[in-house]
Amino acid sequence: MTIQNDKVVLIDYTLNNDNGDILDTSTGREPLAYIQGHQNIIPGLEKEMLGKKVGDKFKAVVQPEEGYGKFTPALLQDVPRSAFKGVDEIAVGMQFQAQLEDGPIIMAVKKIDGDTITIDGNHPLADQVLTFDVEVVEIRDASEEELAHGHVHGVGGHHH
Ligand code: ZN
Repeated sequence: MTIQNDKVVLIDYTLNNDNGDILDTSTGREPLAYIQGHQNIIPGLEKEMLGKKVGDKFKAVVQPEEGYGKFTPALLQDVPRSAFKGVDEIAVGMQFQAQLEDGPIIMAVKKIDGDTITIDGNHPLADQVLTFDVEVVEIRDASEEELAHGHVHGVGGHHH
């Protein structure tokens, strides 16, 4: 069996950035489980997975355009503390949803300087070239329920 759309795929992976820093890894954890063709993982990696089989080990280099996007300076803003009406405590790293013209977006508090709060709507991995070292652990057909939900149930996936 090879990886095609609607297959459940389990992978072991390690993610490095350009500097060789490990950003994420499944080592010591359950493998990552996703459904091919359902945007469970970033497009650049999903594309590289097509046609692979169990036991395949490979490196996938993903550019920002097919990863977490380019850094958008307009999404980095200073706002007055008064913009956080009704929030008791503002802390760096706090995430919240903001409504933009294009729809909702997750923003995070980056910096607090007195009454000036710097917020950032860019993904933390925006602008980064990502290198995945991948090993395909398992490939199976997705159940109808998994396809309907758009995510994997059971090992490595959602537990209901
Ligand atoms: Zn579900």
